[in-house]
Amino acid sequence: MTSIAISRVHFPVTTLGPGRRLGLWMQGCSIRCHGCISADTWAAGRGVVALEELLQQIAPWLDQAEGITISGGEPFDQPDALAALLIELRARSGDADILVYSGHPFVKIADHVERMAGQIDALITDPYLVDAPQTLALRGSDNQRLHCLTQLGEARFGSMRDVLAGQPALDVMFDDDGSIWLAGIPRREDWARLQHRLAGLSAKLTTTMDTSHRAGRSVET
Ligand code: SF4
Repeated sequence: MTSIAISRVHFPVTTLGPGRRLGLWMQGCSIRCHGCISADTWAAGRGVVALEELLQQIAPWLDQAEGITISGGEPFDQPDALAALLIELRARSGDADILVYSGHPFVKIADHVERMAGQIDALITDPYLVDAPQTLALRGSDNQRLHCLTQLGEARFGSMRDVLAGQPALDVMFDDDGSIWLAGIPRREDWARLQHRLAGLSAKLTTTMDTSHRAGRSVET
């Protein structure tokens, strides 16, 4: 039975690709970019579940999702689990597109991508560089590349290759434990502005660059 390490799943996500999307964040990242705001996803070995269990969890959303975004963490740190997940998602998700994020350069994961041919519609590669410009849609830094790997990927993402990011937007998720999570690609200056505003409300914005033992991108009051 295939196991997969997952950080979280959420529906709907509207800021990581077109339409109302199912978001899956894989757990474990060996790349560890300086400035990453998802450092809670770095540790390997957490959140391990059977693939079948994950598929049961997301089943209610698959009919509704217009697209699926797989991020992390680093999905290609679990290539076998990713390949198995993609096959199942493709079989169960109708005409939803599948977008995968990786922090590796394309050449480093090319063999895996070839093995997954037809399963990934669009792929965003390369590490996050905190000092690089940040102007392009769907990317945290402008060195990152958007690859359209299928006709569906070209149709849904082709126009976004060189498109400037629109108004920054974040999805807000409320967890049962009272945490509030933000998903999306915040502009750097907006992150600082949000921290400043929350400080005025006696609330604190915490990323996992600030603390390694708590979840990232959360708001505490
Ligand atoms: S930005 Fe992505 S690839 Fe880079 S350390 Fe964070 S999770 Fe890993």
